[in-house]
Amino acid sequence: MHLSRRDFAKLSALGLAAQLAPQLNSSLGAQTMPASPDSGKVGYCLIGLGRISTLFAGGIQGTTNSRVTALVSGHPEKAAQWAEKYGVPRESIYNYENMDAIRDNKAVQAVYIGLPNSMHAEYTIRSAKAGKHVLCEKPMASTVPEAESMIAACDKAGVKLMIAYRCHYETTNLRAVQLIRNGALGKVQSIQSAFGFSCDPSDWRLKKALAGGGPLFDVGIYCLNACRYLTGEEPEHIAAYSSTDAGDPRFREVEENVAWVMRFPSGVVATCNTTYGSNMDGYFRVYGTKGWLEVNPAFSYDGLRLTAAYRQDDGKYIQLDEPNAEKIPYHFKLEANHFSQCVLENKTPKTTGEEGIRDMRYIREIYRSAGVKNGISEA
Ligand code: NAD
Repeated sequence: MHLSRRDFAKLSALGLAAQLAPQLNSSLGAQTMPASPDSGKVGYCLIGLGRISTLFAGGIQGTTNSRVTALVSGHPEKAAQWAEKYGVPRESIYNYENMDAIRDNKAVQAVYIGLPNSMHAEYTIRSAKAGKHVLCEKPMASTVPEAESMIAACDKAGVKLMIAYRCHYETTNLRAVQLIRNGALGKVQSIQSAFGFSCDPSDWRLKKALAGGGPLFDVGIYCLNACRYLTGEEPEHIAAYSSTDAGDPRFREVEENVAWVMRFPSGVVATCNTTYGSNMDGYFRVYGTKGWLEVNPAFSYDGLRLTAAYRQDDGKYIQLDEPNAEKIPYHFKLEANHFSQCVLENKTPKTTGEEGIRDMRYIREIYRSAGVKNGISEA
């Protein structure tokens, strides 16, 4: 399967994480922020107008509780085009220098951060200081201390922080979790998951200062997060390997391949792969004592498909083949709807900052085990 970067933008993926139940985080004290006075909807300021923000804006348009009310961009012409498309007034267009003025914009209750990874912390903290709730793209940050500072800033400001793990809100991923929790597969024994693509040489993802690391930060995180939400457990032991083609100029700053194994407390062993060197379907396959299930693709923006085969306790053999007919940008609609509901009803998002920082810590552990330092494998 050959995917161009554009295909990847359509098909790319994401992860859902740990438990189905909402986790209480320290931003529980966040105050309810009323919706835009004139609409009853939560007004979002989109920070960074790239590929993912395009999809998120489309998702917002499919909701009944959210709307785009402000924009932050370094490109005035692009911002003007977006403003026209989404009905954003000129005075609600900001740049990276003056965006702190969203503090005074009553039409903005929340921000959506669609910037390169290492910019997530700065714009989360500035938005929190401006009194706005924050929906930040994954990975949460480029280091664990940055992620800690994001949680602290949102707590201090009394605003909500949600990490945009769209698969937590996506129906086929939730169906897989439900089947596992209901015991359809019996005792889960192992999980296989992979996700990767051949990275374009011009992509910021290859620059450590912007990306934090290689494919593990961008797409491997889907596999990591999926293993956590599929098991509902946290890994207790991690072992990893990495390799990089020293002759490929793309990989001067970040690693090319990572493979890792995670053992969970119940005994589940998960094996995962990620790469920027080749196109690798984003999927997971779960084996239990009564059968198996696979979601492939699992992390794409649409076209997800669940297959499964297991034997029930009454001896009946069940086979499932469940393609998901929902189209782009349904993930983003579900995600925006959830965050807006949390804002309107003062609830804690399902994928809090605590969920995001767990993945950051596991990524750090994977790099340690693989001997990846400064984004380049020393192994
Ligand atoms: P992109 O390159 O398409 O967009 C990045 C945006 O940031 C652009 O508007 C760009 O102008 C702006 N920007 C500001 N300063 C920049 C700088 N110094 N260098 C580069 N861009 C700069 O990237 P993207 O694919 O939209 O990814 C953005 C974020 O979204 C990343 O954190 C990525 O991991 C995440 N993402 C999430 C998903 C998902 O499905 N949830 C999918 C893709 C990307």
